[in-house]
Amino acid sequence: MKTLTVSVVTPDGPVLEDTFDMVSCKAESGELGILPGHIPLVAPLTISAVRLKRENQVEQLAVNGGFMEVQPDKVTILAQSAEKPADIDVQRAQEAKKRAERRLQSKQDDIDFLRAELALKRAMNRLNVGN
Ligand code: ATP
Repeated sequence: MKTLTVSVVTPDGPVLEDTFDMVSCKAESGELGILPGHIPLVAPLTISAVRLKRENQVEQLAVNGGFMEVQPDKVTILAQSAEKPADIDVQRAQEAKKRAERRLQSKQDDIDFLRAELALKRAMNRLNVGN
């Protein structure tokens, strides 16, 4: 059976390089399921989980934005951050979530709501993947 080499890279360095049967991720245009032999494409990713399937096992990564480049035998994900479940500090993510929620509920004019919304999305994504 054909496989895909998947490489995930962040500014801190490589997070994962391995072979899988299928990659599922959430691009800005919607869900993408990539199988070996897929036509080349580049797609911006949302703050979301990337699912990597091999035989009957699925691994997940919490990915923060960036984009994916697809070649028929290779998927490269370049993201601002990407964590495996075991590397996620759940307490840190819970604190980040609370902080972002407090900011979003605040009535102060000087709050950057977009920034707080993105921080909330990153924290919730980490909590979904890390638990
Ligand atoms: P925080 O407010 O807790 O710093 P953040 O969403 O602002 O969260 P990022 O800017 O997305 O953090 O990430 C900065 C670095 O910290 C990245 O290398 C990222 O992988 C890492 N990181 C952030 N939150 C966690 C977490 N809960 N567990 C493990 N690593 C994390």
